[in-house]
Parts: sequence; structure tokens; C-alpha cells
Amino acid sequence: MYDINPIRADFPILGRTVYGKPLVYLDNGATTQKPRCVVEAITNEYYNTNANVHRGVHFLSQQATELHEASRETVRRFINARSTTEIVFTRGTTESINLLAATFCPSQMQAGDEVIVSTMEHHSNIVPWQLQAMQRGIVLRVIPMDDQGNLLQDEYERLFSPKTKLVSIAHVSNVLGTVNPVREMIRTAHAHGIPVLVDGAQSIPHMPVDVQALDADFYVFSGHKVYGPTGVGVLYGKEDWLDKLPPYQGGGEMIQHVSFERTTFNELPFKFEAGTPDYIGTTGLARALDYVSALGMDNIAAYEHELTQYALQRLGEIPGMRIFGRAKERGGVISFLVGNIHHFDLGTLLDRLGIAVRTGHHCAQPLMTRLGIEGTVRASFGLYNTREEVDALVAGIERVRKMF
Ligand code: PMP
Repeated sequence: MYDINPIRADFPILGRTVYGKPLVYLDNGATTQKPRCVVEAITNEYYNTNANVHRGVHFLSQQATELHEASRETVRRFINARSTTEIVFTRGTTESINLLAATFCPSQMQAGDEVIVSTMEHHSNIVPWQLQAMQRGIVLRVIPMDDQGNLLQDEYERLFSPKTKLVSIAHVSNVLGTVNPVREMIRTAHAHGIPVLVDGAQSIPHMPVDVQALDADFYVFSGHKVYGPTGVGVLYGKEDWLDKLPPYQGGGEMIQHVSFERTTFNELPFKFEAGTPDYIGTTGLARALDYVSALGMDNIAAYEHELTQYALQRLGEIPGMRIFGRAKERGGVISFLVGNIHHFDLGTLLDRLGIAVRTGHHCAQPLMTRLGIEGTVRASFGLYNTREEVDALVAGIERVRKMF
């Protein structure tokens, strides 16, 4: 049962107006709104349980630590990791990928070794590897795609060489909505003995994810895109791999013993968690994961699929509409241009009608280059969006189109 009205009522911000118009929030790919229970969990911890974790003998510190570690267990369960030792808390997807690049490349790669990424990666799955390329001469190889937004699997297979050391790909494109066949792509990589990092920023909020079923070696996501707070995210890594990697940052928490002569490091996952963690954020994230779990990830996926099909059909009726991303398997991210209206103008005028969309290159400039455009307008759906909001978007675009 998916009852949209009580669900919307859980998100106070959806009831507000902008420029005197009801808010139509279609920028969920950038960040999602927060249900009341998440905000309350955060407030409640600040009011009642705030103390630094993992350090104190006192009551509050122990309670805060229990909450923080219970949140780790909630994340483990949500993605079906084998153990909480495999759940590293970070600031978000970007930090998770940077952590991996900064630890994997120096320890597992030499100059000339290769990382395979794809044409449709977000900058946060390109630039961390380029920083490593500058420092140690590692090389990026790029999986091409067809005009519909499908990665070319034959070309992918051909990219493997004795120099390949890692594959790092998005589960779902934040521009095209393409759901990449990551399970098959992981199988291919493993056949070559190569581990795979999956960027789950755009998949975690929209579909059930089972890291063991995928057999992903690393899986990363951000809390704020899955109805949780900003500033907290996750790096899942198979224990064997995490054990092989050196620490990321140095500081408190990540050590076992420090002396000026020799320092030893803490066990997993704390080896990668230097400094005071965002223990309030992890509480908020766990509450968000509980919230979407209660709705059911399968139900959310089915609801959003239906809404996306409706939106694709309605938007497709608009004269001059060009939709980028026609993969068979696609999520609720729709990038488009209309006639020769500049994406920025369209986005700005829609905003005046209360409709929040994203415009620009969406942190995927190499993909824009591949598409031969500078940017798009992007509508991206969340679990609370409705057909009426799609209708408002379509009516808004029609209005702008007539102005031009
Ligand atoms: N990867 C993808 C596919 C994304 O969509 C985003 C966010 N737009 C990121 C990575 C980066 O996420 P964050 O800014 O939360 O670190």
C-alpha cells in the first residue's frame, strides 16, 4: 500500500509556497527533503543524548556510542553487508570515492596502471582518479555509450588489460537516469580478477540494493540523497579489501597505539574514521533508512517507476522536447531541452512558477561533451512526488514555450 497523502504530510517543507505558488520540488537528484522523524531524531539526540562517542566512560557518551553503532548496523542491514566492520562512515559519496582513490591507488597501483570509469560519471567519480593520475601516473580508461545512454558492454570488455586494477562506475546516472547493469559488469570485472566500486548516490534512494547479491567490492552513497541529513555518507567495502588498504586520514579514533617511534592503527571500520564522527548525522541517516524501509524499497521503486513513465509520456507530448537518456532500464531522472530555449532560462522561469528543477551540466561535463550540449534541465523524482506535480511541470514548460 502506497498512500501518497500521509507520506507527503511527513515532509513539512512540501507544504510551503515559493513566490506565492505551491512548491513543486523536482530536484531530488541534488538532494531530498527530510521527513519529520529524521529532523526529530537529530533534535532529540542534541537535546537528550549529546556526547562524544567511543571515548567516555560516562553515561551519555556510552548512550551516544550505542546510538552511533546501532546506526552502523541499520546501514549494514539496509544494504545487506556481511558485517558492520565493512561500513565506513564518511561525509558522503564524494568523500567515499576520494577515500578509496587516496588509499587504493598508492597501495595497489603503479604508474601506468588503469582505472576504468564510464562516460556518464559524475565529476566526483572522475576527478579523484585524475588527482591520483597527476600524482602517480595512473591512467583513466573510459567506457563509451550509445545515443540512448547505454554503456557499450563489448567495449567495456575490451578495455581490460593486464594494467587494469579497478573499475569505478555509477549504478544510476544522475543525468540520463540509466540504470547500469552493474551486476553483470561486476561479474565481467571479477572474471579478470578486478574489483569494482559502485557509485550508488542515485540508486540507494530508489531501489533495493544488496551489496552481496551485486558482489560489489565497494559501494558508496550519500545520506542527504536518501532523505537523511547532509554531511554523512557511507563507504561499504568488502573486509578483505578494506584490510589491505592503508588509513586515509590520521588522528583520533583511527589508532590503536601512538608513540613517536611507531603508531599502530585501529581495527575496521575505525581505521578509516579519523576524528569525531558525525554521530548526530548517522542517527539521522539511520532514521531515514528506517523510514524508507518501512515504506518498502520495492514499493518506492514501483511507485517512482510508474510516475517516471507518466512523466516521460507527458513530456514527450511537448513540441520541440528532446529527452536525453532513453535506456530501457531507467530511473526517475529526466534531462531535457525544449526547442532552442536555453536550459538556464527554462529553469529560471519554471522556478517563478514554484517548480524547482536543476539546470546546467549536473557535474557531468564529459557526458555533456559526449551529448554535444552544454547543459540540460533536469527533473528528478523522489518518493513523495505526484502526477499532479508532473502535470504542473508540463504546464509550466508549455507556458514558457509560448513566451519564446
Ligand atoms: N555521484 C553521483 C552519481 C551523484 O549524483 C552525486 C550527487 N549529485 C555524487 C556522486 C556526489 O554526491 P555528494 O555531493 O553527496 O558527495
